[in-house]
Amino acid sequence: MRDDNCIFCKIANGEIPSTAVYEDENFKAILDLGPAQKGHTLILPKDHYKDLTEAPEELCGKAFSLAGRIGAAMKKGLGCAGFNVVQNNGSAAGQTVFHLHIHIIPRYADGPQIVAWNPGTTTPEESSETAAKIAAEL
Ligand code: 5GP
Ligand code: ZN
Repeated sequence: MRDDNCIFCKIANGEIPSTAVYEDENFKAILDLGPAQKGHTLILPKDHYKDLTEAPEELCGKAFSLAGRIGAAMKKGLGCAGFNVVQNNGSAAGQTVFHLHIHIIPRYADGPQIVAWNPGTTTPEESSETAAKIAAEL
């Protein structure tokens, strides 16, 4: 499954050069061209899925497992103190390349906070109503 107009299909399948940190039959993991932090890595499936909603369960499991392996390797190899796993779905969520990918972003001690939000508030009633709306569609 390929999309001839997709840059990540071309990178994952070696038609466009990239700096790879890992490759197997399902994935290529490459350094991001505009890293949030030194070592910022992207896991690209070799098959084209626009986002997480399209990807098969087995592939998602392997991708998440690989994210953990790469994060552990970053801690050893780059000396980061932790890492964020970020995965954007849809332009409203910041997705700019519509080929499923996972960001693994190293976090260095005393470095800037990469992924953050201001905690809001909710009530038990609102939480129940919101949870029910999601649950009804699963
Ligand atoms: P998104 O915003 O879709 O979650 O993330 C897309 C990411 O891909 C961005 O962090 C961007 O820097 C990276 N990117 C876009 N084009 C290329 C490319 O041609 N090569 C590499 N290595 N990274 C890219
Ligand atoms: Zn693609």
